[in-house]
Amino acid sequence: MADLVIALQAILGPKGWLSGADAEPYRRDWLDRYGVAPLGVARPASTAEVAAVVNICREAGVVVIPQGGNTGLCGGAVADQANAVIVSLSRMTAIGEPDLDSGSIIVDAGVVLAALHETLEPHGLMFPMHLGAEGSARIGGLIGTNAGGSQAFRFGMMQDLVLGLEVVLPDGTVWDGLRAVQKDNAGYQLRKLFCGSEGTLGIVTRAVLRLYPTPKQQASALLVMSDFAAAVSFGAFLRGEAGEFLAGLEFFSDVGLTLALKHLPDLAYQLETRGDVYLLVEIASGSTRVPLDEILASTLEWGMEQGLVTDGALATSGAQRAQFWRLREEQPEGQRLEGEQLKHDISVPPGAIARFIEAGAKLCHDILPGVRINPFGHLGDGNIHYNLSPPEGHADFDGKGAAFAEALAALATGMGGSFAAEHGLGRAKIAMADRNRSSTERALMARLKRAFDPQGTMNPGVLVRTP
Ligand code: FAD
Repeated sequence: MADLVIALQAILGPKGWLSGADAEPYRRDWLDRYGVAPLGVARPASTAEVAAVVNICREAGVVVIPQGGNTGLCGGAVADQANAVIVSLSRMTAIGEPDLDSGSIIVDAGVVLAALHETLEPHGLMFPMHLGAEGSARIGGLIGTNAGGSQAFRFGMMQDLVLGLEVVLPDGTVWDGLRAVQKDNAGYQLRKLFCGSEGTLGIVTRAVLRLYPTPKQQASALLVMSDFAAAVSFGAFLRGEAGEFLAGLEFFSDVGLTLALKHLPDLAYQLETRGDVYLLVEIASGSTRVPLDEILASTLEWGMEQGLVTDGALATSGAQRAQFWRLREEQPEGQRLEGEQLKHDISVPPGAIARFIEAGAKLCHDILPGVRINPFGHLGDGNIHYNLSPPEGHADFDGKGAAFAEALAALATGMGGSFAAEHGLGRAKIAMADRNRSSTERALMARLKRAFDPQGTMNPGVLVRTP
């Protein structure tokens, strides 16, 4: 392996190759569940360097693991064996000039999502992808996981926001698919295939992304709902009233709010009463002529008359709107700071959310009485982060983690949903896919993997079983 390291160092230079203690920050995943020490971390500065790294590793039979911000929640961006090189895109951070006429931009795969938002703001443009990890997650990782986030119900997931891609394939070839058009039916939708491929089919190096005009006005409200069924009914009514202006429909529970307020003292909850379920709603428009405040206020009035909404406040300033959003976005952090946790990334048809939460609670309490259930997520597309904390006074889940995961996955699948809504499979959920997806579907994925990566050196053991 000394020869391999010398060859990589020669290509990458001193900043581009990290080993030993310098490689430590790249070793473990965000949840600290996966990751062994790799041979080292390659930090290429260009597509040509990525291709050279891939070629050298393939010739030496060394596994390559693409890594972005390493915020993924399924352990897909870290090594499970020492014979591996992590390829971090963190030095490829160029952002092109936005194409104002076409509404697109070309970016390197290592660009951090929040940096892209900041760059676009002065142009009156936005990239409609928002999630709690946006200060660290990178474009290549968001593509790798086909991230969704809070606006997916309106603008789609990453696959709907990527117009073109440049990818280094497992054999070192560079695929230049950096086209900037939405309509391109010249064959299979290769760009979409890479979205959600979790680094198993190639390393994304650059992307052309779709942009949208920043809304000129927004109206937001934080609501206390009588229960989850009320949140679903209110969400359906709001969709009808607000139509294309609906921009946010996020829910969380009092379990999560309590944890967030306990662990993040700078958070503020300003409503007079508490309840079991909260809904954050937002409507937005590119025109200043749409009476957003009126639409939201009258919808709230209807919700209160129907007994669905028990309390609520309209944001009266940008600062208050930001506070409302932080209450939702800090849900994962509040729970992480509480200690042990189990995450389940579920989706069901939006109309089935309340039924899932109720049935899931029964299953979970049968498995471990007193387990704290903290569901939060994206009501608009039925995505529930059905997370658990141990019962009060317990440090862990008495070894019952797998029982929760299997029961909830089967429940979601039975309701026509998914056990892997937006975080992917990574290393964490391959066994679950064995039980919840047909052998035909799994065999198709394995054939795709073999066609792209016959030697099996590109992130093996992630997403799909490899021999
Ligand atoms: P990494 O973790 O580095 O990698 C993720 C996967 O992509 C790995 O399999 C990796 O090999 C692959 N990959 C990385 N870079 C490349 C590349 N250049 N080419 C090919 N493959 C690559 N997700 C949502 O969808 N919605 C949410 O609302 C959401 N909220 C989150 C909140 C928090 C607090 C956290 C920690 C995570 C959240 N996530 C959410 C998880 C989400 O998957 C990641 O935040 C993000 O998509 C991963 O980006 P990353 O750059 O960190 O990727």
